[in-house]
Amino acid sequence: MSTMPPSLRVRRRLLLGPGPSSVHPRVYEALARPLMGHLDPLFLEVMDELQVMLRQVFQTTNRLTLAVSGTGSAGMEAALVNLVEPTDEVLVCVNGVFGGRMCDIVERLGATLRRIDRPWGEVFDPQEITDTLRSHPNTRLVAVVHAETSTGAHQPLAEIGALCHEQDRLFVVDAVTSLAGTELRVDDWHIDACYSGTQKCLSCPPGLAPITFSDRAVERMGERRGKVPSWYLDVSMLRDYWAESQRTYHHTAPISMNYALHEALALVLEEGLSARFERHARNSTALVAGLSALGCRPFAQEGHRLPMLNSIYLPPDVEDAELRRRLLEDHDIEIGGGLGNLAGRIWRIGLMGESCRRTSVLTLLGALEELIGSAAGGAATAAAESVYGEMAAEEIRS
Ligand SMILES: *Cc1c(COP(=O)(O)O)cnc(C)c1O
Repeated sequence: MSTMPPSLRVRRRLLLGPGPSSVHPRVYEALARPLMGHLDPLFLEVMDELQVMLRQVFQTTNRLTLAVSGTGSAGMEAALVNLVEPTDEVLVCVNGVFGGRMCDIVERLGATLRRIDRPWGEVFDPQEITDTLRSHPNTRLVAVVHAETSTGAHQPLAEIGALCHEQDRLFVVDAVTSLAGTELRVDDWHIDACYSGTQKCLSCPPGLAPITFSDRAVERMGERRGKVPSWYLDVSMLRDYWAESQRTYHHTAPISMNYALHEALALVLEEGLSARFERHARNSTALVAGLSALGCRPFAQEGHRLPMLNSIYLPPDVEDAELRRRLLEDHDIEIGGGLGNLAGRIWRIGLMGESCRRTSVLTLLGALEELIGSAAGGAATAAAESVYGEMAAEEIRS
């Protein structure tokens, strides 16, 4: 018999926060499959397939594509620790919490940090990066967050990638929240290192960090003067385990998490990337329409709002902590609060992967209507329904 607290056995939360997101039953089944050894040929087959699927989802042909043990932050650390040396100058673009975290890592590596900032909720113009690089010509690496989960801002990458490529600077992208939720073209956008996490739009429990490195990045790693300062995240050693011909033991792979990621990636590819991106966009549009009927304005810069992380100002006269507590306790719905000085001012509503469904949108809006009071009178769900109705009509016409 399970010794879990009874409430944990029966409660099922609707996860509409900044991650983790809801998990598909097939992924839970994968997690429950019997363990094998991490060098068992059957498990290695799982790893090989997983690697092929990861490349498809990252839209890359990079050979060095794998899943690092650990959460999204381990992916961030793996990208930087392998590519940055103490003699390097690194440019980090900061418009939220996660750009700040990259700065922290770069400083710990002893490199020279050049940081440019945008107000939270805004994105960077490629011109700003061009200008910064012109005044700091020795910059070796540029790091950017694609989907800033702390603000809901969606950073365009193609132009920044092209300019880094032209100038021979490494381009590192945090795609923890964007991967499998919105367009991300690692090869076309000249990204040299791109990492993600399993618990956002891949809809897996937290525990692995998919990552991919371009050949140019691999070359740079080969030219390092010193050892990678992290033993656990040294990709040159991880590579020998993931390489079909070698399979050198490094650390024990988290077997069950690899099963789960394998299944989650299969689900992504069965749906198809473009259908998945379209689903994220559609549900976000409906949610935002519903929220606006409740008097909530979007927070992030217009034209640069993420579909999977909807940041909105709180509705008028609502007490943040109390409302989120009631959503969780009375309705089993989790949404995220604001971070830093956005605490108490915005909500961060995730529609990631499995959580990104019409039923999630309508359930949340219905609960908010009930909690915020009769003033809204069903207007929010009606607004969302009308968006869905228009989209369905559009589909029939086309
Ligand atoms: C969630 C997140 C991370 C960190 O991932 P963890 O799984 O919490 O370690 C990094 N970057 C972004 C943009 C994120 O949203």
